[in-house]
Parts: sequence; C-alpha cells; structure tokens
Amino acid sequence: MRIAVLIKDRCKPKNCSMECIKFCPRVRAGDETVTRGEEGKPVISEELCVGCGICVHKCPFDAIKIIGLAEELKTDLVHQFDQNGFRLFRLPTPKKGSCIGILGPNGIGKTTAIKLLSGQMKPNLGDYDDEPSWEDVLEYYAGTELHDHFKNLANKEIKSVVKPQYVDRLPKIMKGKIRDVLKKADTSGTFDIVVEKLGLAGILDKDIGKGTISGGELQLVSIAAALLKDVDLYFFDEPSSYLDIHQRLKVAHIIKELSEERKVLVIEHDLAVLDFLCDNVHLVYGDEGAYGVVTHPRGVRHAINTYLSGYLKEENIRFGEKIEFFAHPPKKRQEMNILITYDNLSKSFKEFSLEIERGIIRQGEIIGIVGLNAIGKTTFVKMLSGVIEPSSGKIEYDIKVSYKPQYISPDFSGSVREFFEWKAQQLFTSPFLKAEIFKPLNLKYLLDKQMDTLSGGELQRVAIANSLVQEADIYLIDEPSAYLDSEQRMVTSRTVRRVIEKSGKSAMIVDHDVYFIDMISDALIVFDGEPGKNGKGRGPFSLHEGMNRFLKDVDITFRRDEETHRPRVNKPGSYMDRTQRQDGEYYYSM
Ligand code: ADP
Ligand code: ADP
Ligand code: MG
Repeated sequence: MRIAVLIKDRCKPKNCSMECIKFCPRVRAGDETVTRGEEGKPVISEELCVGCGICVHKCPFDAIKIIGLAEELKTDLVHQFDQNGFRLFRLPTPKKGSCIGILGPNGIGKTTAIKLLSGQMKPNLGDYDDEPSWEDVLEYYAGTELHDHFKNLANKEIKSVVKPQYVDRLPKIMKGKIRDVLKKADTSGTFDIVVEKLGLAGILDKDIGKGTISGGELQLVSIAAALLKDVDLYFFDEPSSYLDIHQRLKVAHIIKELSEERKVLVIEHDLAVLDFLCDNVHLVYGDEGAYGVVTHPRGVRHAINTYLSGYLKEENIRFGEKIEFFAHPPKKRQEMNILITYDNLSKSFKEFSLEIERGIIRQGEIIGIVGLNAIGKTTFVKMLSGVIEPSSGKIEYDIKVSYKPQYISPDFSGSVREFFEWKAQQLFTSPFLKAEIFKPLNLKYLLDKQMDTLSGGELQRVAIANSLVQEADIYLIDEPSAYLDSEQRMVTSRTVRRVIEKSGKSAMIVDHDVYFIDMISDALIVFDGEPGKNGKGRGPFSLHEGMNRFLKDVDITFRRDEETHRPRVNKPGSYMDRTQRQDGEYYYSM
C-alpha cells in the first residue's frame, strides 16, 4: 500500500514554483495526480500516484512524503486527519489489572490514540470527509477486544480522565487555590488519601495562577486531579516531566496500584520509569507527522529492549538506530586541565540554605547534577553563572557561562529563524555547528514555525541549540530531557558530548532521567538534604560513586539488564535489591 502525505506547515506555495505539480510525470501525461487544493497547496491522489518520488525530491521544503506500507495495514487505518494528512493505524488496548504503556517518538500519534480511546475524538476509519457513524465503528471492531470499549463510549457508559502532557499550561487555564482546584476534581471522595500519597499538604494553600508553583508541583497537582476522579479509564500523558526520581517512582507506584483496579494507559519517555511502572507496552513506529502504527503489546522488558535495538523482529521493521549502554570507562579526570574551582559556597534564603563543598571542574568534561527537587541545584548553577551572589565562599571565575534554564518560555514573537538570527547567528554560518548541532537536533523543519506555536519538545531543542551555540567556557543546561522523546534524549546526549569534547569546554547537566544522566555524564555532583529546607552539594564524583551515593540517599537500587546493559530499577525487597544493598552497590551490579 502506498500513502502520500503532505506536511502542511512545511508547504509554502507562496514561495514556491510548485515543482511537485510541474514535474510529476503522471500530470505531464494528463492525469490529475497532483492538483492545487486549499491555500494553493498540492493535493496528491493516492490512486493515480505511481510512487516515482519525483515530487518528493523536487519539493524544496521536504513537505511531501510518499511511503510504502505493508499491505495488511490497509484494513487497520483507525483515523486520518484529512486527505494527505496524518494517519494512525491500530490502537492500544486498555486492560484492567495491568498498566499499559505507549512508547514511541514525538509526532507519531500517541496523543491522538488517547483522544480516540477517551472519546474526545471519534475514529473516522480513514473517512475524513464523511465521518462514519458509531454503528460503522462498532461493526469495524466487531469481534475484537476494542468492540466493547467503543460500544461503551458510544453509549456514554464509560468515563475517563486524561492527565495532559503540558502541565506548564495549567496556570493559564486554572485559577484559585490548589485545595479548591483539587476539591472540585474530587468525584471519588479520596481527597485526603491522594493529598497524603502525593505529599501535597504543604502546597494546598498556594494559588495556581500566581506563577509561584514549580513545574514539579504542577505535575503532581495535575496527577492528583486525575487520580481524584472516579472513572473507568485513566490516561497519563508523560507523568514524569519535572519530577525528581523519588517523585517519579512514587507516582509510578501509585499509578501501578491504580491499574490493579482500573484501566490505565501511560505515555512515558523516561525508560527507567516506564520499565518500573508498566506491565505491557505498545511500541509505536512510523514517520513524524505522516503516520504511526501501534504494535501489539509486549512485556515491558522485551518492549524496551526491542525499542533500544531499533528493530521489530516480528514485523521485520527497522525503525531507528540501535542504542547502546555501557558501563562507562571513566575518563582520567586528573589529566584534564582545571577550568574552574569553587570553595565552600553557601547561600541562604529566608527558608532555604545551601552549602556546596569544594569542587573542581575540568575542561572537556560533562558533569551531571543529581538530587531531589528543591534541594538547591538551580541555585548552585545560578551562583556559578553569576546570576546570584553566594552568601559566602568563593568562585574563581573569569569564565563565561551559557545557561539554559529549566523552564523555557517562548516569549519571542517571531519565527525560529528570526530567533536564531538574533541570538545564534553562528548556527547558520559555522560548518561545525551546522554539522554538530543544527543537523542532529533536526532544526531545519522548525525554522519557519512561530516560536509560540512550538511543541514542548521542539522548544526544548531550540533552547538547547541556542545555549550550546553561545560563546562560553561552561554550559549549564537545566533539565534538557523534559518533553523530548527517548530517542531525542539519546541524540541530545550525543550532541552535547561531541560539542563539549571537540571544543574543550565543559558542561553541567541537571536532569532526573537516569538513562540520560548515565549516557551524558563523565562525573556527578550529588545533592542531598531536605527539600525546601536545606541542601548540600558534593563532588564531582565518578559516575559510579556519584550514582551510588545518590541512590543510597533516595533508597533505590538499580541493576543492569543482562542483554542491553541498561539500568533497571529493582523491585523493593526483591533478591537483587537485598543483595545489592548488602554489598553497598546501589547502581552498577551486573
Ligand atoms: P504524539 O502524541 O505521538 O507526539 P500526536 O498524536 O499529538 O503525536 O500527533 C501526531 C500527528 O498528527 C502530528 O504530527 C500532527 O501532524 C497530526 N495531528 C494532530 N492533531 C491534528 C489535527 N487536529 N488536525 C490535523 N493533524 C493533526
Ligand atoms: P532545585 O533546582 O534543586 O529544584 P532550587 O535551587 O531551585 O532547587 O531551590 C531550592 C530551594 O530554594 C527551594 O525551596 C526554593 O523555593 C528556594 N529558593 C530558590 N530561589 C529562591 C529565592 N530567590 N528566594 C527565596 N527562596 C528561593
Ligand atoms: Mg503527545
């Protein structure tokens, strides 16, 4: 089967001589294979197209995709947005008694799948002009596991709730005290239990619209609002962004518990969390903006290992690069030049005090920074960058710092191209930056988009690129993994490594994704203390020692998967968990 897709926001008929139409051999032979449609954009007839690919190559904006798909998918089309629009094939199946995960890249239909299953949208089975009735949909699903689900949806006998992806937008749409927001959401009468479980008591009186609530708190409130609903089906779209590892596993535990009683579907890009949380996972493969295919569920370990291998054996489909983990051979830190030393820094705010032990950062290395939320990581980074003054202690700095903050707001009215021309001109002129940043972060297609229309992952890539391009000695990057899919996280870690290694600069990365930290860090600075009250930063340590200290402090052990060497969270109290604790090996045991 052949499909033709037009990526609408790339197509610019006003700046284009429409060679897709001009050069199509079928059009030249007199067929209406490519015609002009709305706004002058081309409409490609899939019946007449012979798949020669000339229009694809002629289009200066890479807006056209002609894709050959397995014949059997023909009958599996669940939804298509419009002619030459995005197509979703097959759906995940919610099941009571097991937590079902969805894993796949951005732009491939995961949120669409949730909208279809939650009833926010009705599946059109590919008939975008003439939407089929519920009877048609039910007939289509006759004899399958999803039949009853859609029957109940059609009869409005199923209630569901969605924890949305972008929690940073909540303050714009919700007003009032957190207590009132949550009380209103509470249809299950479990307010006290949920508040207790998620540790929200301390923030109930905060006002959601006031901008004083951190991303992690917004995430927890948003998860709480979903848990408080008494419904049949719960969807969690990326529940881990902005949460620290402790909160991630706590939330995972609560969602897992919920899945024993209700149907639960989760989209998650933090693989350590997905691994811990879900029983079965649907991988989704396809082509961004063009199509997505939901695969049958696999056991979670097998699913993640398959995902990392980049190859679906059963379907015989290669969908990505193989991603490998290795127990890092640590760099010989002593041999590298010292870039910066700081000595017993401290900072006191009204309610929070921070101490940082003496440390040295060397050229060419990447320091991961780990620790719970509200423990002083950002404050430390800000002291180093000179944004705030330490209360005591000294930093030897003649150094220049480039800083990517944790929360990035697109408050630039203009296109990405204009933004880069203003802030990061070199990205267009330096062959090195073009090859090492522009290309791998896949920025080409974002250039003509308006900054304020970018998705979370797109904005993140723009911000990371912008910070890496600045002239500086040290690059401080605060939570780069937020909203990136698992593959983009790998690409980002590789990009940062290469740029830092080749330029002989240094970087510090604050992040909570263990896989990401494992891949990107040469050494670790570890924070402990009491969140919101006091924090202490120590290090840099080797990755092994740092992870060990950190995980011991948060009371979690990781083993390594025999096959892929990726880290896996141990079940508390399991044999591995107990032996590793005894041996004091919280991280590396094989
Ligand atoms: P994911 O959640 O996997 O990132 P989405 O389900 O949000 O992906 O979107 C998949 C694709 O569907 C997007 O690339 C977009 O092109 C397309 N799409 C989403 N919503 C619409 C819509 N309302 N109209 C047309 N196309 C849409
Ligand atoms: P992390 O980055 O580890 O999440 P932060 O360094 O952002 O933590 O914050 C640590 C603590 O310091 C938090 O409790 C925060 O509320 C407090 N804090 C941060 N900046 C200020 C400030 N300018 N004034 C008062 N308190 C602050
Ligand atoms: Mg999504």
